[in-house]
Amino acid sequence: MFELPEFVTLAGQINDTLPGKTILRGELGNSPHKFVWYNRTHEEFERLTRGKTVGEAKARGKWLFVLLEPGYVLLLGECGGKVLFHPPGSKAPEKYHLRIAFDDGSCLTATTQMWGAMELYEAGAEQDRQYVKGMRPTPIEPEFTFDYFDTLVDSLAAGKKLSAKALLTQDQLVPGLGNAIAQDILFRARLRPKYPIAELDAEQRRALYEAITSTVAEVIEQGGRYDEFDLYSNPGGYVRLMDKNAVGRPCPECGGGVEKIQYLGGACYFCPACQE
Ligand SMILES: [Zn+2]
Repeated sequence: MFELPEFVTLAGQINDTLPGKTILRGELGNSPHKFVWYNRTHEEFERLTRGKTVGEAKARGKWLFVLLEPGYVLLLGECGGKVLFHPPGSKAPEKYHLRIAFDDGSCLTATTQMWGAMELYEAGAEQDRQYVKGMRPTPIEPEFTFDYFDTLVDSLAAGKKLSAKALLTQDQLVPGLGNAIAQDILFRARLRPKYPIAELDAEQRRALYEAITSTVAEVIEQGGRYDEFDLYSNPGGYVRLMDKNAVGRPCPECGGGVEKIQYLGGACYFCPACQE
């Protein structure tokens, strides 16, 4: 599944490649998949996108917004899989969940692995969509300061027992993070996935904040994770420290063994010596 760095990478590459292209034909999937969320019929999508010109793209959390001018926004979100650009004359995939053909012979396709939204809104209305509306500050936004994070932890620690992994991966408390990047954030912050956030002292809160912002920045810098693909079908350059390949390998910090547990809907990898 794409997380914030992959969406930022895609947005940047769309801005390098697609603006100014005019849509000949927009199509929703030819490969039925009940976990793809559409908000338009095939006919509506084709009619509303025809003749539109691609404008600016931006990423926010796990959502990608692409202006289709005049007046519309293509919204892809909470998805994984592939969002690919196909230059004129190249072969596009036969199965897709979204395909937009441009007047210069190029096209854009999107195919999701598990689930995901592929929606079209009148510009402005996308901001009212569930999960987009009221989204908390994401780690690359200026509002995501340490004071903001500290207050967020206070408010969440007060009511219920929340773990460090839950803070990073559940309910978009820190939008854009997911199970993959959370592992490396926790390793860098030296916290185990189950560590209760109510017990974080000032130094640990600072370490967790720094780990979130520096890890996200590094993954963006490297064009996303190595097990995801960019707009041109190239894998990202960021190799995770803590993933399935880390089990059985020495911890990069202390040389000890990395452990795996199942927790909160996914595998977690951590070093029992380095992470408390
Ligand atoms: Zn270690």
